[in-house]
Amino acid sequence: MLYNCTWVIHMILARENISKYKIQDYLGRGFLCNCGREHSVDIEKVVIENGAIAKIPEILIFFNFKKIFMVADENTYNVAGAGIEKILRNGDFELYKLVYIREGNLVPDEKAMGEFIINLPETTDVILAVGSGVISDLCKFMSYKLKIPYIMVATAPSMDGYASTAAPLTINGLKTTLSATVPKAIIGDIDILKNAPMDMIRAGFGDVIGKYSAINDWKLGRLINDEYYCEFVSDMVMYSVKKCVETADRLQKRDDSAIRNLMECLLLTGIAMSYTGNSRPASGSEHHLSHFIEMVYMFDGKESPPHGIKVGFNTIAVNYIREKISELNPDFSEVTKKASEFDKNKWLEDVKRLFRVSAAEVIDLNEREGINSYDKRMKRVKRIIDRWNEIVEILAEVPSYNEIRDILRKIGAPVTLKELGVDRETVLNGLVYAKEIRNRYTVLQLAWDLGVLGDLAEEMGQKFYV
Ligand SMILES: [Zn+2]
Ligand SMILES: [Zn+2]
Repeated sequence: MLYNCTWVIHMILARENISKYKIQDYLGRGFLCNCGREHSVDIEKVVIENGAIAKIPEILIFFNFKKIFMVADENTYNVAGAGIEKILRNGDFELYKLVYIREGNLVPDEKAMGEFIINLPETTDVILAVGSGVISDLCKFMSYKLKIPYIMVATAPSMDGYASTAAPLTINGLKTTLSATVPKAIIGDIDILKNAPMDMIRAGFGDVIGKYSAINDWKLGRLINDEYYCEFVSDMVMYSVKKCVETADRLQKRDDSAIRNLMECLLLTGIAMSYTGNSRPASGSEHHLSHFIEMVYMFDGKESPPHGIKVGFNTIAVNYIREKISELNPDFSEVTKKASEFDKNKWLEDVKRLFRVSAAEVIDLNEREGINSYDKRMKRVKRIIDRWNEIVEILAEVPSYNEIRDILRKIGAPVTLKELGVDRETVLNGLVYAKEIRNRYTVLQLAWDLGVLGDLAEEMGQKFYV
């Protein structure tokens, strides 16, 4: 008798048990969730512990990988690659390596990909990526294109992309996010992670603190646009964020358990993205603002602060907006009137001015999805009016902007424009226009739908961004 075989194990990971699950419980299998979807992730092993790099040989043997192509940059080779090389040379492996040498930062661009191909030996079993953001992005993309699996050895707890299927690359000088694979295994050696530059640790924490906002925006999306939402995924991210925040004040001391909680949270968020098949559980208004700043700086040939540093900083602003909206006592007939009077010409003018070479893409997205169409605007406003009390309840779920600022201050992350090193105009433009970057409902869109976004941005210009 033949069975119709599926690898999905028909069990349910339960929301009420989230606090008991370890990362390994989420890996290597799929499960049917109460949200109606099957969730799965292709990562099979995660090892986060002191001295984890010593386990690399046994992980390679587990997967039967013999011919290895190790990829690192100069820094990550020095902090981890050289040690790994020594361990592997003692074993029964065939090891090849590429160490990127650059004057400044390594950019994940065509040149880097070319070097990768030139150095890649034929019939490689596995790419062993040793590094953080850029090395991870390059290797996951090359793994996807070349259909060669990869193992990630993380050298800094700096961002949540290790476990995600998207690779932000620089193509033709522009940041472009392309499809990628997740690693077979992720190795986080706490002895290496905790010695990462403090700014990278702060950036990782900023990315984590942004999840308060991202998950909150997701809830708004469900309420206003009937968007798909999963309580399990939302809870697994928030549980991990809270655990990470609890030990945040020990990050500056490079405490082992604080670093572990941070790294675990970054990986769990990546797994959450695999579960939903998009970045919804990890990225909302705080990320859109960050992307906006990054884009404007790139247009001007300037580099903006690291991703997670911007995300953390922006979380203060979007939580301020949440607070202000929940304090509103909106005159709904006024809100409806304002929403019916959308000035499309002004919008087009502003988008062209701010988004420059990317304006056509933004306009196209908006038209295709009808985001600003009369019908969609009025539909959203009607929903806002009908469900106002629930909206206020959702907005109140996040920590106050003051609390976010205090947590960031505690770890020495920037909380003022001056500390961040980004100009005022870009941030203010971002508050009003960052929502155009994605078709994803966030608190910025809510403020716009209520007709208060411009005023709030102005108020914040005087209050925060001085
Ligand atoms: Zn689910
Ligand atoms: Zn992020």
